Amino acid sequence: MESVIERIKKQKFFKFAGGIHPPEQKFLTVDKPIKTITLAKELILPVKQHIGKAGDILVQVGQKVLKGQALTKNDNPMCVPVHAPTSGTITAIKPSTMAHPSGMTDLCIFITPDGFDTWIKRDIVEDFKSLSKADIVDKIAAAGISGMGGAGFPTNIKVNTTPGIKFLIINAAECEPYITSDDLLMRERSAAIFNGLSILNHLLEPENILIGIEDNKPQAIKALKAATNDSKNIHVCVLPTKYPTGGEKQLIQALTGQEVPSGVLPVSLGVIVQNVATVFAISEAIIDDKPLIRRVVTVTGQALKKPQNLWVPLGTPISHLLEQCGFSQNSSEHDITQQRIIMGGPLMGFTLPSLDVPVVKTTNCILAPTVAEISPATKELECIRCGQCAEVCPSSLLPQELQWHAKAKEYDQLEKLNLFDCIDCGACAYVCPSQIPLVQYYRVAKAEIRQNKVQEAQAEKAKIRFEARNIRLEKEKLAREEKHKKAMAARKAATSPEQAKSNNSAVAAALARVKAKKAAQATATDVPVAEEADVKTRAAQAIARAKAKKTAAANAASAEQSVDKTDENIAPEQVSSAAAEKKARTAAAVARAKAKKAAAANAASAEQSVDKTDENIAPEQVSSAAAEKKARTAAAVAKAKAKKAAAANAASAEQSVDKTDENIAAEQVSSAAAEKKARTAAAVAKAKAKKAAAVKASSAEQSVDKTEESIASEQVSSAAAQKKARTAAAVAKAKAKKKIEREESKSAQEELDLVIDTKSVAKTSKQVEISPAELKKQKVAAAVAKAKAKKAATAANQETEAKKVSLSDTDKKAKIAAAISKAKTARAEKNKESE
Ligand code: SF4
Ligand code: SF4
Repeated sequence: MESVIERIKKQKFFKFAGGIHPPEQKFLTVDKPIKTITLAKELILPVKQHIGKAGDILVQVGQKVLKGQALTKNDNPMCVPVHAPTSGTITAIKPSTMAHPSGMTDLCIFITPDGFDTWIKRDIVEDFKSLSKADIVDKIAAAGISGMGGAGFPTNIKVNTTPGIKFLIINAAECEPYITSDDLLMRERSAAIFNGLSILNHLLEPENILIGIEDNKPQAIKALKAATNDSKNIHVCVLPTKYPTGGEKQLIQALTGQEVPSGVLPVSLGVIVQNVATVFAISEAIIDDKPLIRRVVTVTGQALKKPQNLWVPLGTPISHLLEQCGFSQNSSEHDITQQRIIMGGPLMGFTLPSLDVPVVKTTNCILAPTVAEISPATKELECIRCGQCAEVCPSSLLPQELQWHAKAKEYDQLEKLNLFDCIDCGACAYVCPSQIPLVQYYRVAKAEIRQNKVQEAQAEKAKIRFEARNIRLEKEKLAREEKHKKAMAARKAATSPEQAKSNNSAVAAALARVKAKKAAQATATDVPVAEEADVKTRAAQAIARAKAKKTAAANAASAEQSVDKTDENIAPEQVSSAAAEKKARTAAAVARAKAKKAAAANAASAEQSVDKTDENIAPEQVSSAAAEKKARTAAAVAKAKAKKAAAANAASAEQSVDKTDENIAAEQVSSAAAEKKARTAAAVAKAKAKKAAAVKASSAEQSVDKTEESIASEQVSSAAAQKKARTAAAVAKAKAKKKIEREESKSAQEELDLVIDTKSVAKTSKQVEISPAELKKQKVAAAVAKAKAKKAATAANQETEAKKVSLSDTDKKAKIAAAISKAKTARAEKNKESE
């Protein structure tokens, strides 16, 4: 038995069923070289021009694009991108009428060319074998190549197959009347087509490559044979002209004798079919890095003045093509009202719904026939069952039965009659005497069946999802029930036997939980109440301490008021004016005698007030840290007040000696004028002070000590108070020093003054008489003062290191004061003994 190749070498081919021989009309363009068309003013690019999915749009309105730039992306094997056919600007992205017999609209990208036709950067590949097969397939996909012969199946899928391909068949039959685009392409670009064949040979590694071409294309046959002469596995197969030899199944059968079963792809037989224009596009994509942005279109028909083959950028409106070829809708040469513009051949093509539809990847011909050539559609007649349609059907179908079921929308019956084996060749309609547009019925029926299948598939998916959801919900329900059972069992196990007996239900367990929760909440609320009560108690204690402190301060102040009232009033007057100073001196002299009586008692009462305050605060300090802090504050305040009172006491006790000096000293600090006055007043007061110095020494020293302690406290409390205290301390220290110097001089006059003063004191008030008990009392007071001074110094030392200096100074002063007091006490005792 002869093999296929042996038969081919002998130019012996197989026959397929049916077929017709329509009158040849290729003469209109067969001798017209391919020309380049002028660019249209606007290009319209449908996003989807192939079978499969549309890509995602990458551009936006107003964006400038370059020639060859991808406008969509292919992230799916069944999606191939579209590219800009020239450089320009994206002017719109909107639905527009498609090249489809239904006149349906689809999303399109509108580009206004800029006229420069500027290419995007390309990567020329001299040797495609340097690329891996995967890279080649990817480049084919990225170039947006889909079948250019009719259906528009993505080429990257066709060429990405498993090994074992016996025949790679190149469809170059171009059996339709009128169409010469492939013929001219093979003649002019046979070298590029050979490169494409070489790429496919490299990719698919078929046993043989069969180029099927009808014998009505002698120049193309010659060109192809010349191009492929050196290739042993490439065979140019010249087939007899018969329509539809270019049908995929028919071509396979004619070349290999194999009949592709219904519903089976040719690849299952080891056969792959590619259109010759697609092979050329592959060559340009891989070697020249040019995406599919143009194609050869035969613009023909006797209604045109210049029918020709053109390189047409994709997206070019049909109206522009016709205009380029001398078509005028106002022409009187043909009946414009009956004029048809057909996309494709007269048999497989369809009448365009509008001249604004663009050229797409599958557009190989635009036919503008006269009425004489192709009569307009006429009203169909009843089928006379002549059977001619069945005779010419290349797929061995029953066209008349198909049309009945198509009209009745009996899709199941259509499928049983293998409607999808129909290749839409139109041979049946061509021979039908009843002018029944059979192919149109089949096309509509196929579209509806496909749509129904898509919906059924979606419904099936939804059903599967719904069932899966129900199963999942049921599982979750069972899981929840199981979980509840386990939780209930755990609660029962956790309940005591008595409770388990009495509370044998979930309700009882829930009640128990509620009670426990309430108890927890009650406990939580008790804590704040206790804390609140504690806060109130502390506040009350703080208020009590503050009141006690206030009372102590008031007592100290009232005790001094009896002595110091006059002096305090005078002192400010002395500061304010010289007259007031003189008046104050007089008043001070009068008050001196009175002050002697109350000085000791006032000083003692002031100290007692301070001591009591301190004693009251001390227990609180022990009671709690917070109370201690508050007590310290209260003590500091009391000390400050005591200081004020002590200062007044000191002034009263030393009325004759120091009152004026203190005021003058203060004035000296404040201003030079006051200092001068103070010095004068101090000189006058010195003589008078000699009288009362010995008697008031102890009380004066105590007052000084107290003043220093208070000053120390104030120094701690604030900088201002510290400054003030230092001034007072300096004054007190000067006075004390002065007194010590006087004591050390032991002058007779001084002793005499002391005796006189003592006597005068005794004469003025017997209450001031120093008895043994009084002496003992004074000793105790001195000891107390000393102890307090130490206590104050210690407390100050504990607060801050900065305070330590001041307190240390104060302690020192206190010790000196205590020593002076002790010396004065001893002197007083001696004086008494001498009396
Ligand atoms: S060719 Fe037309 S008339 Fe004849 S059987 Fe077929 S459909 Fe009917
Ligand atoms: S169009 Fe379909 S039914 Fe009609 S002849 Fe062609 S293949 Fe047969």
